[in-house]
Amino acid sequence: MIEYGDWIISASGYKTHVPQHLESLFCQSNGYIGSRAAFLQDGALPYERCTYMAGGFDYISPGITDMVNLPDPFHFMLTITGSAPGRDDGSYSEFVQRLNLKNGLYTRDTVWTDGQGRQTAIKISRFISMANRHTAALRVELTTLNHNGEAELLLGLDSGILNLPVHDDQTLVNDNTVKMLEAAVGTSGHGACALTVRSRTGRLTIDMRCRVTHSDGSQEDGSAADCPARRLKIRLRQNQTVTVEKLISVNDPDGPPSGDFAALLEESGRAWALRWENADIEVEADDPAIQTALRYNLFQLMQSRPFGDPNVSIGARGLTHSRYKGCCFWDTDIFIQPFFLYTDPAAARDLVRFRLNTLPDARENAKALNLNGARYPWMCAVGGREQCHTWDIGRSEVHITADVAYAVDQYMRVTGDGSVSGDAARLLAETARYWASRFSYDAQKDIYNLLFVKGPDEYCGVSSNNVYTVLLARHNLRLALKAAENGCDVSPAEREKWEEIIEKSYVGYDAGRDLYLQDDDFLRLEPFDFGNKAGDTPVYRKLDYDRLQRYRVLKQADLVLLMLLLPGLFTDSQKQAIWDCYEPITLHDSSLSCGIHAWAAAALDKRDKAVSYFKKSLFLDLENIMDNTGAEGIHIAALGASWQAAVFGFAGLSADGPGEPSLSPKLPEGWRAMRFVFHSKGKRYRAEITTEGCSVHEYKEERQ
Ligand code: BGC
Repeated sequence: MIEYGDWIISASGYKTHVPQHLESLFCQSNGYIGSRAAFLQDGALPYERCTYMAGGFDYISPGITDMVNLPDPFHFMLTITGSAPGRDDGSYSEFVQRLNLKNGLYTRDTVWTDGQGRQTAIKISRFISMANRHTAALRVELTTLNHNGEAELLLGLDSGILNLPVHDDQTLVNDNTVKMLEAAVGTSGHGACALTVRSRTGRLTIDMRCRVTHSDGSQEDGSAADCPARRLKIRLRQNQTVTVEKLISVNDPDGPPSGDFAALLEESGRAWALRWENADIEVEADDPAIQTALRYNLFQLMQSRPFGDPNVSIGARGLTHSRYKGCCFWDTDIFIQPFFLYTDPAAARDLVRFRLNTLPDARENAKALNLNGARYPWMCAVGGREQCHTWDIGRSEVHITADVAYAVDQYMRVTGDGSVSGDAARLLAETARYWASRFSYDAQKDIYNLLFVKGPDEYCGVSSNNVYTVLLARHNLRLALKAAENGCDVSPAEREKWEEIIEKSYVGYDAGRDLYLQDDDFLRLEPFDFGNKAGDTPVYRKLDYDRLQRYRVLKQADLVLLMLLLPGLFTDSQKQAIWDCYEPITLHDSSLSCGIHAWAAAALDKRDKAVSYFKKSLFLDLENIMDNTGAEGIHIAALGASWQAAVFGFAGLSADGPGEPSLSPKLPEGWRAMRFVFHSKGKRYRAEITTEGCSVHEYKEERQ
């Protein structure tokens, strides 16, 4: 059971939870380095102790990368009077892990009783600094409760670490561990260790250092192959606490900063406080767990923010796991970026810059597919070349290009930042050229078809005229035409073609029901027996895709999302028809789905449904709802979808148009108030919704 305290999430008991689930939940990151909460002391294996770096990829085959699992900076081994807690004979009578969402501090309070009845209180604390991206720290505090004894501690930088690649294809399991770290050089002396390690092709060089201090005892070299380390011997006296600190630097030529654990934590806490000032959502709800869970979602989103670097983006699992080889998807543009747009526009700008900077790669992708213009990759890591191997998804899930164009325009609409408009216009024109070459003209019917594509709902197979893709591609073409009016270099013939595709591209529509049809095959699909879906196991784990793709059942609903992204395209009754048709046949087997359905349900004023979907999205990782948070890490897009459900759905914020920001609240039952700060067009606002009414006003006080 996860417990939800005030700003704290905690879990009690030793190995009473699926350990990997907690390793994901308590993952810490500052957007530059991220580390799962797996410790050698508990017997975590070399591929389970995971630390990643933003942009830290290396090649595993020509052109294809994996996110490199770095040396373990938090490596430590402890024995107390000859007994290793958690490994040798004995037991923990207390074992509580806590994550403080306010300042990112992880603590673990334990009492270990060895086989001889000797009891020691052991407290482990660690953080990754939000103030200095290169800094992390570990602290071990030992208090013997009924004995005098001796502790031996080994604290090192362990490069004997392995990668665990997971195949792109969700149905294949690949547990081949791969060694991505090579050529380690380590030194240990004078209370410090240093390690320089190269990744397999030399793309990364990691320089890790640590300084070890302790309040009592002696220190000597304890290095082993691949792991420079300090060995500490400490006399323990009953009821006296001994403190050991390990201050760590990653890729900082100056090594670990001066100061101690407490001072560095305070500095990091101040950086966290500035972030919270802009991102917090205060909720007064009958169930206080909602507030803590919402803050956990915001906390992990903030942890995923690249540390001021427009050359990296956010992977589908951030720095919490190397699932999907650490790659970034449409998750970033459509699900994650809106959170940053409204709470941290500088971060959103970096995400947009990443797409703008990778336009040359997108051009290469188009060329490789015999197309014109620029085609954004379904998955990308280093730059913007395609990293997805599979044909049905990597080649066919082409909506990503329109998603990128949508997000770039959304950035400019919400922030009013004109400084990117030149680059944005080039991106819009190049992506429009891609669409112009991707649609096929049918001269007999005088229509344009978008053949062989897959929409966001990956259950219906590769089909034609997927309406999400077609309508968002039209939006992309319209944006490009507008950019062309403002001086971007586009020929009259190109403009004419784009206008013709907007007018003549085919969209399936059932006039009798006033309903847009997902794609050309939708009405031909066989009915699915929903009674067959036992439990929450995604159906793709039970049915082969060939069988699955012929059923009328959705993983996530394309049109429900589209009517939120482009609300002006649909009448109220069309939105209702979309909900009535697609919601009942959607299984939400994608983590991206529930938050979007919560937002849609709130927009349509279906409050019970909205709350139920919101909770599924909000607690998706906290309660391991998809049963894969441990094995795959935190689902960053779901966090972003939860934020959109809260802010766009429940608060009804509208701040992307020409007028002043406004609210149209639909608070769930049991919520008495909701307050948050947001940015729009260079100004900061504070929104407040209570049972009495709501208000938005400009909020000037700016400490940064
Ligand atoms: C979803 C995609 C998503 C990807 C990464 C897949 O399971 O269906 O929409 O982009 O995961 O999160």
